[in-house]
Amino acid sequence: MDTKARFARLIAATGPISVAQFMAESNARYYDSRDPLGRAGDFITAPEVSQMFGELIGLWLADVWDRAGRPGPIHYVELGPGRGTLARDALGAAQRFGFVPQIHLVEASRALRSIQRGMLPHAIWHDDFSSVPDNGPLLIVANEFLDALPVRQMVRTAAGWRERMVDLERSDAGDRLVPVAGSRPMDAAVPAALAAAAEGAIIETCPAAAAVVDDLARRLAAQGGAALMIDYGYTVPAHGSSLQALRAHTKVDPFAHPGESDLTAHVDFSVFPAIAQNAGAHWIGTIEQGAFLIALGLGARVQSLGKAAPAQAEAIRAAAHRLAAPDAMGTLFKVMGLAAPGWPTGAGF
Ligand code: SAH
Repeated sequence: MDTKARFARLIAATGPISVAQFMAESNARYYDSRDPLGRAGDFITAPEVSQMFGELIGLWLADVWDRAGRPGPIHYVELGPGRGTLARDALGAAQRFGFVPQIHLVEASRALRSIQRGMLPHAIWHDDFSSVPDNGPLLIVANEFLDALPVRQMVRTAAGWRERMVDLERSDAGDRLVPVAGSRPMDAAVPAALAAAAEGAIIETCPAAAAVVDDLARRLAAQGGAALMIDYGYTVPAHGSSLQALRAHTKVDPFAHPGESDLTAHVDFSVFPAIAQNAGAHWIGTIEQGAFLIALGLGARVQSLGKAAPAQAEAIRAAAHRLAAPDAMGTLFKVMGLAAPGWPTGAGF
């Protein structure tokens, strides 16, 4: 049975489900069954745009590790590694500086695990972060992972705040899944400053992303290491639903094709510094992807790759533009750095 039919049956039997449950189950099914990346898929990510992205991240990691005194055993941990392209490019660049860590990939999708196995045969796979070893520093990377985690939404109705739910609308033209306001009052879950927001206002939070950052930060504090979390999102609190769905590189109704389209939400980076610091880690900063890559030497990398392959020089320049320019991924995407206390804070921030 397809995902939409399963939701329809569930809702018909027990009533509307939360947006968070809808997003979690849709994405679990979506990712498990396919490789969504690339031209033939639904979306393209920075590591798939150019090897330069992964290489610069690998050099960032090697530099931090070197300045920390080259401790071992050392673990490379990537959350949601997609095709494994970022890990391959990062570790390829970093090994020239002697950084050869154990590789740990946190990946839920069976389809993507099998592609990663071809790219990184020596890696160790984990269902979630909890089984990553605790016997040495962790150098952690996540690109477009947090945006796939389920968001919780509240909507302001005439009667007060309600959780935003997904219901089944039956009609002769066919059944549809549609967002509705839940029936239970949720005013207590909303900050006092927003109590009187206009009817229709929506606030969105991502408890799962907060939990991931808390876990990582605790491990960094206990074991040493550093983390780079890269995603599209915002650094000052925002309102409204940012839930979106991509199918074959086109935006579609997020409720129309559960399990068949990529559901993401903007990442609220504004909540992470306090979470990381409360967990004992150091928040290095959160900056725009373009500024970060340029500070790490994107321009020099474009030059040297272009010189080595003159026929590709224009394509390499175009890829760098896509990664770093404000009208492409350069400002929408943010890079957050975390470090263990006493560890170097890393270049580029
Ligand atoms: N980082 C890759 C892929 C991004 S797509 C890139 O930049 O190209 C999101 C990735 O996160 C996929 O690998 C997906 O399978 C994985 N993922 C999504 N939700 C997950 C979860 N709850 N647990 C583990 N992996 C998850």
